[in-house]
Amino acid sequence: MKYSPAKPPLTGETLATLTARLQERGEPGFRARQILDWVYKKRARTWDDMTNLPKPLRGWLDDTFELMPATLVLNRQSEDVTDKLLLELGDRALIETVIIRVPQEGVGLEHSRKTICISTQVGCAMGCVFCASGLAGLKRDLNAGEIVAQLLQVCYREDARTPRARTELASFDNIVVMGMGEPLANYDAVIRALTIVNAEWGLGFGARRITLSTSGLVPKILKLADEPLGLRLAISLHGATDEVREQIMPVNKAFPLAKLLPAIRAFSEKHGRMVTLEFILIEDVNDSLEQAEKLRDIALDLHAHVNLIPYNTVEGLPWKRPSITRQERFAEILRRARVSVTLRREKGHDIDAACGQLRLKTEQTRASA
Ligand code: SAH
Ligand code: SF4
Repeated sequence: MKYSPAKPPLTGETLATLTARLQERGEPGFRARQILDWVYKKRARTWDDMTNLPKPLRGWLDDTFELMPATLVLNRQSEDVTDKLLLELGDRALIETVIIRVPQEGVGLEHSRKTICISTQVGCAMGCVFCASGLAGLKRDLNAGEIVAQLLQVCYREDARTPRARTELASFDNIVVMGMGEPLANYDAVIRALTIVNAEWGLGFGARRITLSTSGLVPKILKLADEPLGLRLAISLHGATDEVREQIMPVNKAFPLAKLLPAIRAFSEKHGRMVTLEFILIEDVNDSLEQAEKLRDIALDLHAHVNLIPYNTVEGLPWKRPSITRQERFAEILRRARVSVTLRREKGHDIDAACGQLRLKTEQTRASA
C-alpha cells in the first residue's frame, strides 16, 4: 500500500528541505529559491528550462527529483461549469482534480467564482456508504508532492488557455480539500502540501481561502486547530443524530457526536471563524424534518454555517436525492431559525463530478480493456 517513487517529487520539497539538500552538494544558499521560482512562478516544465542553473546542477536535479509526479491523462469539461482533470501518478494510480466555476448573478461566466477541489488519497478507508471514493477501499496515501502537483497541473492548464499571461493560482477564489480521500487520515502529507501551496516561495495561495473537509477524525481536528497555517474547516456531518449518522458513516462509531461536536467547537473558538457543516440530503435516510430540527440546533449551538448538498447518485448504489420541495422544506427549517445556510445546486453532474466517480469509471474501462 505504501508507494515509494524511484525519485521523490520536487513539488514535495519545502524551501528548508531543498536548501538542506543543495547545501550538502555545496551549492550556494540562493539556489533553492531560484529552483522553486522556476517551478512555481515561471512554470518550467523541464530541468533544461531552468536556464540560469549550471548544467551539472540540472543533471543532478534530474537524477535526484521527479519534476512533475502527475501526468494529465484526461481533461473533461462539462457543458456548464465544471472542469475535471484526471491525473496519472508514477504507479499508474489515478486521481482527480476538479475546477468548479460558479456564475455570479448578473455577470458572465468569466467573472464566476472559481474553486479547485483536490484529492489527498487514492480511494478512501472511511467506508461512508453513499460515497464512490470509498467503494474500493484505500489504495494508498498521496505524498505531499502529488497533492501540490494537482494545483500545478491546474496552473499549466490555465496557462495554456491564456498563453500570453501566466495565471496566478491566486486568481482562483478557493481551494477545497474535498476530492478523493480523507485528508486527516493522511495528515502529515496534507499539512506539508498545504504549507507549500501557501508559502510565498511556493504557490502563494492564502490559507484562509483553503477549506479542508473531514468525515470527523476528532484527535486530528484538535491537532489541526493548533496548526499555525490557519485553514478553514468543513465537517461532513450528514446525520444530526448518532442513530442516523452511524448508519451511513462508520467513523461515527469511533467518534460519535458527543466527541465530534466539542472538537468542532474547540476548532472554531481557536480560529474565531465559522466552521461549515456539510449535510448531503439523501432521500428517506437523513431528510426528515426531525433531522432538520436537530441540525438547526447543532448549527445554532456551534454558530456554524450549514451547506446542504442534494445527493449525487452513484452508479450501483441505491441512494437518491430528495425532491426539490423536500430539499426546500428542510432548508426552510434552518433559515427560519436564522442559521446561515446554503442549498447547493450541485455542479457538473453530467461529468460525474461527485467525488471519485470519473476515476472509478476509467479504472473499470481499463480493467475491461
Ligand atoms: N473525506 C472528506 C473529504 C472528501 S469528500 C470528507 O468526507 O469530508 C467531500 C464531500 O463530498 C463530503 O462532504 C462527502 O460526504 C461528499 N460526498 C461524497 N459522495 C457524495 C455524493 N455522491 N453526493 C454528494 N456529496 C458526496
Ligand atoms: Fe472517504 Fe469522505 Fe467518501 Fe467518506 S465521504 S468515504 S470520508 S471520501
